[in-house]
Amino acid sequence: MKNHFLPQSFVDCGETFYIIDDAAHLADLPQPERKNRTGRLLKELLVRQIAFCEKREGFFCAVTSVSVGEDGFYWCPILFYRPDGEKAVRVSMENARCTACGRQVLAANPTLPHLYEFLPNMYDLAEEKERLPAVGCPCCGGKLSRHAIWAE
Ligand SMILES: [Zn+2]
Repeated sequence: MKNHFLPQSFVDCGETFYIIDDAAHLADLPQPERKNRTGRLLKELLVRQIAFCEKREGFFCAVTSVSVGEDGFYWCPILFYRPDGEKAVRVSMENARCTACGRQVLAANPTLPHLYEFLPNMYDLAEEKERLPAVGCPCCGGKLSRHAIWAE
């Protein structure tokens, strides 16, 4: 047996995630007992997310295996943000606008249902993230147009 890289794993909402900081490590993940259908598209998304995390404090990328049909699966990459000393939360990056100064910012939104897409209670899980404290505009502190727990 080759001495494989062993990714750090954790469970979030019942799904097992493996922390990935290099797309090359995808091949070393423990394979579910299914055919490998790792898609190129997902790998490109993963590469983009890893590049994003490398430049920003508190972010990391993790993958979870998602079943496709009876014998297939793919690795679904999810971006996580961990505020200082708090639990890591799934986030989606999006553009938001400051309602005070009008500045457009890059924001991490934890309230989008697609982050929980493969769970039966995806809407509830997304909605409860609205209770996480929102950050304001990095420029003036004004309210942002989207619920963000991080912005730059
Ligand atoms: Zn502002």
